[in-house]
Amino acid sequence: MVKLPIYLDYNSTTPVDPRVLEAMLPYFNEKFGNAASRSHAFGWAAEEAVEVAREQVALLIGAEPKEIVFTSGATEGDNLALKGVFEAYATKGNHIITVATEHKAVLDSCHHIERLGGEVTYLPVDHDGLIDLAELEAAIRPTTILISVMYANNEIGAIQPIKAISAIARRHEALFFSDAVQAVGKIPVDVNADGIDILTLSAHKIYGPKGIGALYVRRRNPRVRLSAQMDGGGHERGMRSGTLNVPAIVGLGMACELCRQELATGSGGVLAGAGGASAESLRLGALRDRLEQGLLRIGATVNGSREHRLPHTTNISFNGVDGQALLAGLGKDVALSSGSACTSASMEPSYVLKALGVDDDLAHSSLRLGLGRWTTAEEVDYAIGRISETVRRLRETAVR
Ligand SMILES: *Cc1c(COP(=O)(O)O)cnc(C)c1O
Repeated sequence: MVKLPIYLDYNSTTPVDPRVLEAMLPYFNEKFGNAASRSHAFGWAAEEAVEVAREQVALLIGAEPKEIVFTSGATEGDNLALKGVFEAYATKGNHIITVATEHKAVLDSCHHIERLGGEVTYLPVDHDGLIDLAELEAAIRPTTILISVMYANNEIGAIQPIKAISAIARRHEALFFSDAVQAVGKIPVDVNADGIDILTLSAHKIYGPKGIGALYVRRRNPRVRLSAQMDGGGHERGMRSGTLNVPAIVGLGMACELCRQELATGSGGVLAGAGGASAESLRLGALRDRLEQGLLRIGATVNGSREHRLPHTTNISFNGVDGQALLAGLGKDVALSSGSACTSASMEPSYVLKALGVDDDLAHSSLRLGLGRWTTAEEVDYAIGRISETVRRLRETAVR
């Protein structure tokens, strides 16, 4: 018998891995020092732990430790990247290019920048959720300072053509920023191979604690400048003041190290591409396909690209069924979200699905399913059964 409720909302957040928790614990009390205290052993121990974590984060994404800036999470990282570039490059230009399906932390930062006099182009996406590279190139102006495109989408899992985007950015001497929260730790991400200048990641999406993340800021070819958005003691190379959250940073570091080991295990190790998937992404991909096929049998549509997609994510619409009623019907047994958790307080259909051209009724009947490290085949089979039965019941009552 499976243990209920079943968690299928891993794109929203993940539990802390026990190995991460264990690494963090001493830093709450035994080793409680301030990493900025340079004059005693308590401070040195904390600083050493922070530097180990910095290396672990850097290693996962192919960066140098000095290029890692700790933040309170990806929301802060997205704000710092966009507003920080906008301020620091004001003499070069004021135009930013982003995409309609970005996370709210990116879109709302862009709206803020527009109120400050910046100009922002919001690229549309096709039915798969991917941008058109010719459209991107055509949107570039002499004043374009930054191109901001997420690595993989949180609602549909679509993976953007990152290398092609960075090549275009390079050619036009614009910086390339990527919100890589959903991709880092799940698929191979390498800031040099991918040509990324600034990147955000968040611990709680990769089995680390909430409230901590990191921003990668390139130091060479080109050296990226960012205006700090928080003034204070000048921590983190002056880009992010505030006493470092040492236990959380240690947790983020360990979470990255575990993901790195996981990604390196399997047929192709860290090599990207079809043959290079890790054992864990193959496992999750197989479970996701099993879930998807089970649900497609009752009449459903998959939203977004099925080809360029994260292995553990699917977004499915059940025609003739209201998503909220479906979630209510699943009750306490299967935990998932309809559309995006970030906007689920409102009854608006997901703006991501709308941007894909999914009609309102279908968007309203969509579920986002995210699998993770502890998802089992038994859980997937139970979820297929529970969702199918609920969909059938709702369709019958709708007909009467
Ligand atoms: C979760 C998420 C964020 C926000 O991260 P926090 O660390 O929770 O602030 C930003 N972007 C994407 C794509 C996300 O999935």
